[in-house]
Amino acid sequence: MSASVIDGKAFAAEVRGKVAAKVSELKDKHGIVPGLAVVLVGEDPASQVYVRSKGKQTVEVGMQSFEHKLDVGTSEADLLALIDKLNTDPAVNGILVQLPLPKHLNEDLVINSIAPEKDVDGFHISNVGRLATGQKAMVPCTPLGCLMLLRDHFGSLSGKDAVVIGRSNIVGKPMAQLLLRDSCTVTVAHSRTKDIEDVVRRADIVVAAVGRAEMVKGDWLKPGAVVIDVGINRLEPTEEGGKGRLVGDVDYASAAEVAGAITPVPGGVGPMTIACLLANTLTATCRVNGLAEPEGLTA
Ligand code: NDP
Repeated sequence: MSASVIDGKAFAAEVRGKVAAKVSELKDKHGIVPGLAVVLVGEDPASQVYVRSKGKQTVEVGMQSFEHKLDVGTSEADLLALIDKLNTDPAVNGILVQLPLPKHLNEDLVINSIAPEKDVDGFHISNVGRLATGQKAMVPCTPLGCLMLLRDHFGSLSGKDAVVIGRSNIVGKPMAQLLLRDSCTVTVAHSRTKDIEDVVRRADIVVAAVGRAEMVKGDWLKPGAVVIDVGINRLEPTEEGGKGRLVGDVDYASAAEVAGAITPVPGGVGPMTIACLLANTLTATCRVNGLAEPEGLTA
């Protein structure tokens, strides 16, 4: 069997197109322009790239982008004061604090200081609880992107056996909650799981969010399984001066021989994350203004 490729790049472009259309409608009918504020503390190069990319895509879909770049030594009090200001600013519908934060800042405290209705990353304890109890929540962007790809592939996920590998608060746990909400039978595997290959082999859906290059092999998979590879790992460079290749947590070559469908890395889940951030900002804007939520862009 040779798996079909789930094209996350193309799907993300579709999502951005839907967001842009709805943003234009909000402007024309209601005079509302959604706004996303991104807060970056310090100069971590990877974070700077993400923040730039988020700002660019925010503007491209017609939203307002507010970037706040703070010095690496910013105090917790100053960061909390900025978040407080953004919480009450009516032009700001979504607030994202780029993680990781410098060590002297308490991440939980900072995230939980964001107004839950503006928490477009879905990391606030109140949104985590709402997702777990089946209430309307802001849902973390990467798992939301995976869910959209799976819904698009299957239509209904009801009754599917799903295995999520990884139990982080950012990906694994919310992913499991979302699959459960769509009536999958969900198993969460992690570093202490026994006979992980046998666990994975039972699954119709495998979501790998581990951070270990090419860990999941083709012979771990049930023939026809649908594989969503969240991992982003850079291999050692093969030539001097060159950059190493980007690979996922799944060994693509062997998995593609067995799976029914698979996301590539790059070009799979990655582009969906920012697209879902924009979708979440739109959803937050609709909710705060008492308008209908955009169809197909929420969990
Ligand atoms: P974390 O490091 O927070 O979590 C990794 C999880 O994998 C943990 O639950 C850990 O288990 C589990 N794990 C580690 N080793 C093994 C193993 N040998 N067997 C089974 N499970 C194992 O990572 P994240 O969830 O933040 O990210 C996962 C991957 O996804 C990374 O590659 C990251 O770069 C990528 N990522 C991609 C995004 C995108 O936009 N595409 C966004 C976010 C992340 P335990 O809890 O027992 O330690």
